[in-house]
Amino acid sequence: MQGKAHTRASRAGKHTCGDSALRQTGRRTSRPGGRLAGVTLVVQKFGGTSVADADRIRAVADHIARTRRTGTSVIVVVSAMGKTTDGLIRLAEDVSRVRPGRELDMLLTAGERISMSLLCMALAELGVPAASFTGSQAGIITDTTHTKARILEVKGDRLRESLAQGVVPVVAGFQGVSSARDVTTLGRGGSDTTAVALAAALEADLCEIYTDVSGVFTADPRVVPTAHRIPRISFEEMLEIAATGGKVLALRSVEFARNHHVPLHVRSSFTWEPGTVVSEEDSSMEQPIVSSVTSDSTEAKVTITGVPDQPGIAASVFRGLADRAINVDVIVQNTSHHGTTDISFTVPRSDLEGSLEVAEQLVPRLGAVSVIADDDVATVSLVGAGMRTHPGVTATMFETLAVAGINIEMISTSPIRISCLVRAEHAERAVQVLHAAFELGG
Ligand code: ASP
Ligand code: MG
Repeated sequence: MQGKAHTRASRAGKHTCGDSALRQTGRRTSRPGGRLAGVTLVVQKFGGTSVADADRIRAVADHIARTRRTGTSVIVVVSAMGKTTDGLIRLAEDVSRVRPGRELDMLLTAGERISMSLLCMALAELGVPAASFTGSQAGIITDTTHTKARILEVKGDRLRESLAQGVVPVVAGFQGVSSARDVTTLGRGGSDTTAVALAAALEADLCEIYTDVSGVFTADPRVVPTAHRIPRISFEEMLEIAATGGKVLALRSVEFARNHHVPLHVRSSFTWEPGTVVSEEDSSMEQPIVSSVTSDSTEAKVTITGVPDQPGIAASVFRGLADRAINVDVIVQNTSHHGTTDISFTVPRSDLEGSLEVAEQLVPRLGAVSVIADDDVATVSLVGAGMRTHPGVTATMFETLAVAGINIEMISTSPIRISCLVRAEHAERAVQVLHAAFELGG
């Protein structure tokens, strides 16, 4: 690895401006804790598995009723039942090769309408007054980018009225209405973002994300059986975990929560036990050197070989990618030999084709030699706030991978994260040996 320039493109850092235009909450101050004691308004979000069938919907209704009996007001956000959204996407693909974003959004928002209305019926049977609201009815105003719209503003008037009347608002997650008055969706997993945005706009004390796992773990328990639940974690660490393949929370929802100081509690709707609280870092928080090991196999690597080593070359490559809204993650440029060099970078696999087009168009213009695509890669990352003050984490990581015979192809770091690109087939074993090396089991 000697002789390579490693850029420090922190993934978490790249996304921080997202959704920042939420107007009503700009000066909201942080609230301490994140415990249910003293909570007067909570947003409870239930993911697809939590409302997957009639029994689950009734169990969720029971829990909402229980929460209300403690004197806490509840705003509910639901995802579509089970794999409904995947099913709707498949149906669209079967019907047509042309799927205009406006129509796809109209279709996908149907999933959450089903779960919200059914949940209200289950609540009615328990004698809990409840009313369902689409994203549009809830006043979630977005930009016009269909299938991955950004929230511009949350009006929430009808939710406030509903709360004032003692009626539980049940809001369809993942959807809004654009400034051009069309129905939009916030991107896959967007219900988390809906929940956090509502918690921020209505100044809830806490946003609870109910899911099918009992919190955030030191590694994926399916890969590392000794992985354990992390009771408390900072927004910064959670952002890095979400950005490097941790699937419990959608990245944008964590950014939103951090920017608007909304404490999160990620927990199970199957056991209802306490999960992981994500909040501002405070001095009472234990700062483990490494809190989590993650892996991500959704990226691909592109290499442009034989690039002349001159000013402006890298700029034109990355301008071309930026113009297509392609998010580059890790970048490595070798030192040049005889005036030429290789530039490698990673992009989401779904953007590989677009990236290759950009790179191939540039090859003759730049006087480069060729473009190589490689989607058989994965990143393995260590995340931990204590890394900031503990030297040697990188060395231990590299030694551990070396002993396991795993080659490192690219490296990127942030102050609280180290990521290595490895062959995809080595990713699971890399996570296992790193989890053991940093003694995270137990
Ligand atoms: N139903 C949407 C999805 O599956 C949104 C969500 O579940 O958060 O992506
Ligand atoms: Mg989901």
